[in-house]
Amino acid sequence: MRLLRDDSLESANARLGTRFWIYPQPPFIPGYEQPDRVWLSIPRDEIGAGPSDVTMYVVDPAYDKQPYGFDRFPPFEGERRPPARPGPDRHFDNMVPGSRPFLAVHAYACVRFVLDIWQSYLGRPIRWFFDQRFPRLEIVAFVDWDNAQAGYGFLELGCSEVDGIRRPYALNFDTIAHEVGHLVMLSETGIPSGIPRDDDFFSFSEAFADIVSLISFLHFDSAIDRLLRRTRGNLLLYNELNRFAETSPETQIRLATNFRQMHAVTREVHDRALPFIGAIFDSIVDLYHRDLVANGCADGSLLDFDIRELARDEFDRFRQATADAFGIKPLTFKRALTDARDAIGQALALSLRTLDPNMLTLAQAASAVIDKAGDAAAERLESNFVWREII
Ligand SMILES: [Zn+2]
Repeated sequence: MRLLRDDSLESANARLGTRFWIYPQPPFIPGYEQPDRVWLSIPRDEIGAGPSDVTMYVVDPAYDKQPYGFDRFPPFEGERRPPARPGPDRHFDNMVPGSRPFLAVHAYACVRFVLDIWQSYLGRPIRWFFDQRFPRLEIVAFVDWDNAQAGYGFLELGCSEVDGIRRPYALNFDTIAHEVGHLVMLSETGIPSGIPRDDDFFSFSEAFADIVSLISFLHFDSAIDRLLRRTRGNLLLYNELNRFAETSPETQIRLATNFRQMHAVTREVHDRALPFIGAIFDSIVDLYHRDLVANGCADGSLLDFDIRELARDEFDRFRQATADAFGIKPLTFKRALTDARDAIGQALALSLRTLDPNMLTLAQAASAVIDKAGDAAAERLESNFVWREII
């Protein structure tokens, strides 16, 4: 009888989810040296060694592997390192950061963390766009290659090398989240039947992937806390939100807080993605400000200004007021930010199914996001997309 009760308790516990370590930013970024312990929604009895589950598995090749592409596809059939295994409690936070198996476990945890978020926004599971041919995503934990890529049935992670120091992308949440963003988008829109005529398809893909990285990063409690504490609640200051695909503290590859408008970008896909990313970022900040004003944490006049044209003295006044309010009610700031994040994130996620990958333009993508947003978010999105000259 007692045994029976313990068994059922054990299986109920296993359903609670699984613990992992994740670095919200790569550990060489100052302030992010320690990983967060996170609970992922997948039950312990649904994860095997690797880690692996019914939708994905990690491999760590024993020798150099050629990157996938052109005529090379998964599954990886070469010799593998032994798969990472959970501890006796079946959680994966038994790994020592810095060990080789940690790379595999960290990569898996990042992919699952991002999927948990975007499936929550969609309200249903994401089915891989390649599931007719490959039922599961293969995650290659380490390839000796200065890149990371997601494609038909795979996500593989190389490493960057700066000043002779090799930094595996398996430890880089931004990079992994970006690649998962590509997979989420294609799984929702479907893949184009040919090479899309318009560069907008690729620009939107890059914009969406960067936004997935940004919004997913904002799901780490520790990251939000650190961000708000350091800026005293003022998101217009330089901060972590601006960083994507960080490879060293000095190198920022793309910026979300950019002021680019469509007339000022080139045809290069990443450059052409910047106004869209900027419009999304500005909309999150606008909603955040609205919430602060509504809760007495900022002066109402803040909403009268175009934040892109805030003069120095206005900015200083706003900074002082928010810093004072933040000292008293930090949790109001945190809730304002998570609400703004989710209002925009959910609209984006829900917009994907309405897009036609063969005809996609940035203007259509923008309108689709506005259509899926609530009133306050839609109004801000529209105004920002207009300013960016996207619609
Ligand atoms: Zn990309």
